[in-house]
Amino acid sequence: MTGQHQQPIPGVSGISSPLPLGRCIYCGNGPNAGLSDEHVVPLALNGNLLLKQASCEACRVITSRFEAKLLRGGFRSAREAFAYNTRSKDRPTHLPIFNVHGEENSRKDIPIGEYPVTLLMPLVAGAYIDTFPNAVTGEQRTWSFRNHDYDKLSGEADIFQFTSNILDVRSLYRLLAKIAHGTAVAYHGLDGFVPFLKPVILDEEYSGYTRFIGTMWPPPPPLDQNGFETELGLESLNDRTYISARIRFFPELGTPFYRVIVGTFATCQSAIDKWELALKTPPPDPHEAGAIRMDIKATRNA
Ligand SMILES: [Zn+2]
Repeated sequence: MTGQHQQPIPGVSGISSPLPLGRCIYCGNGPNAGLSDEHVVPLALNGNLLLKQASCEACRVITSRFEAKLLRGGFRSAREAFAYNTRSKDRPTHLPIFNVHGEENSRKDIPIGEYPVTLLMPLVAGAYIDTFPNAVTGEQRTWSFRNHDYDKLSGEADIFQFTSNILDVRSLYRLLAKIAHGTAVAYHGLDGFVPFLKPVILDEEYSGYTRFIGTMWPPPPPLDQNGFETELGLESLNDRTYISARIRFFPELGTPFYRVIVGTFATCQSAIDKWELALKTPPPDPHEAGAIRMDIKATRNA
């Protein structure tokens, strides 16, 4: 079946490679490059897939920079409200919100349990390296997921309009690429496939995200557990085989899956040709990958 996800491999998110890889999974550098263990999904998102001796010092600087932008930015209130893992000993008891223009004097510190969680997720038409049927077509837009009774904010905290956390979209795409790539390495091995996503992960200037990443719409129902969902599988199109991953952050909020085209097999030269062409050609639908935020109104009950 064209474009369908075949042979899903469930449970990949929980495995760890038993042996040290001894090479960086991003740049290929060996033991002299200062290799450390790599959390494929950040600990702060409750990730438990670990690749031993799998990221060099230079690549770790790059990946931790975009991870931090998300974890301390657009993902922060959801992480704290749902008590995701943290490396720091002291969890905050309160988080700040600001009235809509963000003036410091409008700051209110709200207890975590009452904090208005907002999570912005861009809907991106994409993953069209080989004209995959898109789950989302048309305009790029942002979907916001909320978990709060806003009446309470206007009633008790006297906040009527506030801004969401800022989501850095480029960092979101890069994290999706990193998780998809690392999951494929865990399953297929570092030499088991031809990886497509290194420019997305390592090159801050790379703009062709939508070649490899798209949103699947509509989202499945919310899960009653937190963490994330990952599934690795194979997709075939035009007699070519692609490795793809489906990734969903904060499933308890009813978020959508993103589909990420990870790579292909060395035996599939025509898919490798497609990838090389995709790297050389600008995306047909250039996508804004800036920072987004949203103003949210709290309304008092009539
Ligand atoms: Zn490296």
